[in-house]
Amino acid sequence: MLILQGKGVWDGVAAGPVKIYRPRAAVTVPHTVTDPAAEQKRFTEARRQAQTELAALGKKALAESGEKTAALFDVHQLMLDDPDYVENVKNLIAQEHLNAEAAVDQTAAKFAALFAAMDDAYMQARSADVQDISRRVIACLSGATDAPALTEPVLLAAHDLTPSATVALDKSKLLGFLTEAGSPNSHTAILARTMGIPAVVAVGACLDQLRDGQQLILDGAAGKIYVDPDAATRQKLLAKQQQEQKQQKLLADLKGKPNVTHSGRTVKIYANIGRPEEAAVALANDAGGIGLFRSEFLYLDKETFPTEEEQFQAYKKVLTGMQGREVVIRTLDIGADKQCAYFNLEHEANPALGLRAIRICLTRPEIFKTQLRAILRASAFGKALLMLPMITSVEEVEAAKKILHAVQAELSAAQIPFAKNIPLGIMIETPAAALISDELARHVDFFSVGTNDLTQYTLALDRQNPHLGQFFKPHHPALLKLIALAAKNAHAAGIWIGICGELGADPALTQQFLELGIDELSVAPAAILPLRQQVRNLA
Ligand code: PEP
Ligand code: MG
Repeated sequence: MLILQGKGVWDGVAAGPVKIYRPRAAVTVPHTVTDPAAEQKRFTEARRQAQTELAALGKKALAESGEKTAALFDVHQLMLDDPDYVENVKNLIAQEHLNAEAAVDQTAAKFAALFAAMDDAYMQARSADVQDISRRVIACLSGATDAPALTEPVLLAAHDLTPSATVALDKSKLLGFLTEAGSPNSHTAILARTMGIPAVVAVGACLDQLRDGQQLILDGAAGKIYVDPDAATRQKLLAKQQQEQKQQKLLADLKGKPNVTHSGRTVKIYANIGRPEEAAVALANDAGGIGLFRSEFLYLDKETFPTEEEQFQAYKKVLTGMQGREVVIRTLDIGADKQCAYFNLEHEANPALGLRAIRICLTRPEIFKTQLRAILRASAFGKALLMLPMITSVEEVEAAKKILHAVQAELSAAQIPFAKNIPLGIMIETPAAALISDELARHVDFFSVGTNDLTQYTLALDRQNPHLGQFFKPHHPALLKLIALAAKNAHAAGIWIGICGELGADPALTQQFLELGIDELSVAPAAILPLRQQVRNLA
């Protein structure tokens, strides 16, 4: 069994025979033409034909996967009409008497290099689009076609796939695809995501190691391709595929439906994420928003402190990705089980009770300030909410607010835009916070119950210890009493309360949570639709 690694762009698992696709290379050999005017005419006609094809592909994309995908072809049509692009080709024909194919090819190379050199990852990915439209024009000039024809269900393997070739493919025969090149931001990757096609890109040179008909399993979530998988791997991945198909069915049945019980009670269902890329997974599972962005993963993934700019880009990505939905960004929750060597934290006998989360932020305000600046700057790009972890007292909230206000004043003075009234909430994850939630509610805009830590601290049960299974009682009445108290106090003070710990997804408790008036449940993306189904089945 050979395992190839690339970047997954869609989480699905696909299994089947591989078909290797090697498009015919377009002939773009430069030569001098004797009649530049006739060559200009050939170019104009080829461009017109390409526009007609793009309009038809846009219609196909609209029918197959909606407006967002179809919009890619509007972008392609606009690119093909770009005056700079057109003028560059025409100049090469007029001034250098170059044949139209070579003039388009050289223009494509020039514009693709310009896009590739840009800082913004989205713009870099447009480099592939300019090459795609140019290939289409060249194909129109030479009468070639660039779409692979599929006769049976296959996993397609290619060096790269253009967005237009991807749309033109017969989806009933496309199980998934892998490409040696490409990036997760390319339009081809966006297409795969929108159409729900399992795909892995940027695998690197691998076509020479494959042969047509060989069995492959592609695991989009892991970005892995198993070539001739052994029985155990096959069994494991096919079970995963079945689970996914069940999820897809739920999605088809429940997407866009409200989280409402028969008697009309509603609850928001949001997603918990740890990395910016997971916002797309949350959206694909129809999350109403992000109820917990565990920002510490930005720190855990690094060898040194992430810069303000790095963090800003990450928060901005989530906020823009969630397209105006709420995003609760939890401030740094380092410490205890989440250790980061470069923080140089002292060894502690009881790290879960030690210097962690808000305690680090308040004792090392320079770290906290950098994060707050980044979050506030990103707040100009969506609906951000701030949430403080591990709160045990009003004083901690006040101290954090003081630092927040200082950062807001700095940004205002520097005329850096940010959302002025960012809601500030706290996690209820210590018994202390639940017990004084009446007081705390007067100082914040929302609560979110972290049942993972609340269980740990209420039941004196180390969440890291694997030997405590028989003592782990997630439905312990003490825990439910604390949640009920926090809910009552939140509502008495006119603020909302959610649950973002694992218990939020426990179907045995959904009814009880709704009766307590819990306003929001934030769960792993894959748990959203099963939970929606559970809510919709309640009386
Ligand atoms: C919790 O404690 O319930 C929670 C959501 O936070 P984390 O699991 O990240 O500690
Ligand atoms: Mg916690």
